[in-house]
Amino acid sequence: MLTGAGISAESGVRTFRGAGGAGSAGDGRSPQGGASIALWYEHRLEDVATPEGFERDPQLVWRFYSERRKLAASVQPNPAHLALAKLEERIGERLFLCTQNVDALHEKAGSREVLHMHGQLLATRCSKCDRAPFRDPSAYESPPRCDCGALLRPHVVWFGEMPFGLAQIYRALEACDLFVSVGSSGAVYPAAGFVSHLRHLGRARCVYVGLERPENAHSFDECRLGKAGELLPSLFRID
Ligand code: NAD
Repeated sequence: MLTGAGISAESGVRTFRGAGGAGSAGDGRSPQGGASIALWYEHRLEDVATPEGFERDPQLVWRFYSERRKLAASVQPNPAHLALAKLEERIGERLFLCTQNVDALHEKAGSREVLHMHGQLLATRCSKCDRAPFRDPSAYESPPRCDCGALLRPHVVWFGEMPFGLAQIYRALEACDLFVSVGSSGAVYPAAGFVSHLRHLGRARCVYVGLERPENAHSFDECRLGKAGELLPSLFRID
């Protein structure tokens, strides 16, 4: 199971692309590719979601993520997050839940095992030393520093950086017989390439659930179009 920004849209968190999103379809690039020209919450992604942006203006980046943290405290999971938490209760570790989202709505809904491949909004790490990332809901006006003296940074994966957990994700794909992607525009790699990897393996049925056909729609067996909060509970027969 792969979830993207669209699963949190009905909770009031803005997506990057697509209906209700910040930019127009097709403006996205790979996290390993160049920066995007899209705006997210009135900021250019290259200013607030790239290592270069952080180097240029850490204060702007921290203010941006501090605002996102404040918003995160007030948003609640929607029926799509709740359906996935119930699905985990029902089938346990047979569900592998990987999210591109940095919000904590899956956990708020009760999901226990969630792989955040693009990091977590409510965590911080050092930009230099190998101190472990730590939970941090704080909002900062100016950039905080680590005990080692370097700047702390949000524990999120920015454009140009390597996502977390790829080895574990590819192991799960090898074992997968049903792949469901929810609310992901299919524009951000490597996540957008998971479905074509599965097609190549030839074992899994691949279903997309979201408002509109994603950019990688051709690789799915089926696209169910609509809101995640309305479609997911019935897809998994959860009341
Ligand atoms: P995206 O913003 O590129 O695309 C969102 C997709 O969700 C669109 O295709 C849109 O049609 C669909 N959508 C909108 N409302 C929906 C709904 N109610 N139900 C189902 N689908 C809906 O998202 P992405 O593919 O996840 O890539 C964006 C990147 O931005 C990710 O890396 C993610 O880390 C980051 N991001 C995270 C959050 C978050 O944590 N909530 C929010 C925005 C962006």
